[in-house]
Amino acid sequence: MNAATGSTIKHHAAQIVAGDRRALARAITLIESTRADHRRQAEALIEELLPHSGRSLRIGISGPPGVGKSTFIEAFGQHAIGEGRRLAVLAVDPSSRLSGGSILGDKTRMEALSRSEAAFIRPSPAGLTLGGVARRTREALLVCEAAGFDLIIVETVGVGQSETAVAEMVDLFLVLLLPGGGDDLQGIKRGIMELADILVVNKADGDLKMAADRAAADVANALGLMQPRHAGWRAEVLRTSALKQTGIAEVWVKALAFEETLKGSGAFDAQRRDQAKAWLWHELSDSLIEALKADPHVAAKLGNLEAKVGAGKMAPGTAAQELLASFLNR
Ligand code: GDP
Repeated sequence: MNAATGSTIKHHAAQIVAGDRRALARAITLIESTRADHRRQAEALIEELLPHSGRSLRIGISGPPGVGKSTFIEAFGQHAIGEGRRLAVLAVDPSSRLSGGSILGDKTRMEALSRSEAAFIRPSPAGLTLGGVARRTREALLVCEAAGFDLIIVETVGVGQSETAVAEMVDLFLVLLLPGGGDDLQGIKRGIMELADILVVNKADGDLKMAADRAAADVANALGLMQPRHAGWRAEVLRTSALKQTGIAEVWVKALAFEETLKGSGAFDAQRRDQAKAWLWHELSDSLIEALKADPHVAAKLGNLEAKVGAGKMAPGTAAQELLASFLNR
């Protein structure tokens, strides 16, 4: 990178730190770009912004479609803004690869927040694999922090691996549940329950109130049998109506209690350090795979070996070793 580009990046970083929203939006566009020169600029920009990042509470919010995620984030976010916070909402939605963005794509979602000066809302990057989306979202999160947002919400749909990816980038993982109960807890996978620091049964209003109470009791029972994710913190179940805006303040208080507890024990910083290290390894493996795929020696053999593996004529392990050997011996 030449000196001129370097000083442009420094200027761009200074604008972001000064709170220039257009500079922030431009930075996120740069991060989401797949062009190699943009990628290099994005990395230099993040390096520049890193000392200004980190000073936020990062909350992941997940739940099945229709549970009320956007309604909840709208109510919760407004409450937090009322408490003096500045909120950035990001999303991890790998399905947007196909649909062009199913969460946060629709401008009518989170209407009040999107009008607020204290909020910044960004839909999930589209057209990428989950790994790609997660990588871009982690970077966007750092940039938002450098821009002075001290509360970051990362929203994800409750499907597949995206929850794990989000849990790896946030301090607190909050799972929204629907009223209703039963043994299978509405098909909520045990793995997701284990990731949750706070569980919230939403739609605890009107005809659904009783069902919400039952669901909360069932979930509390199930949680009693699980290992806590963090020493000193037992996941708890709360009830809200995002629509009627009840129970929201309690969730905020609980989130702050979580932060205080983990900061007190050192677990907060330890988790951040572990996440940064895990990110390094994700970056390394992603970059290695990219380099491997771009290598002409590998490319020359790949088709043939893939066909052999597909036909059951060669073990995948043997093929992988052979490809790795041609990569390393080039
Ligand atoms: P998302 O798909 O998880 O983002 O869910 P939405 O926030 O879009 O909400 C889905 C539907 O549930 C909408 O019709 C909302 O108005 C409704 N909804 C959201 N929160 C509540 C709630 O607390 N109570 C009730 N009764 N309906 C809600």
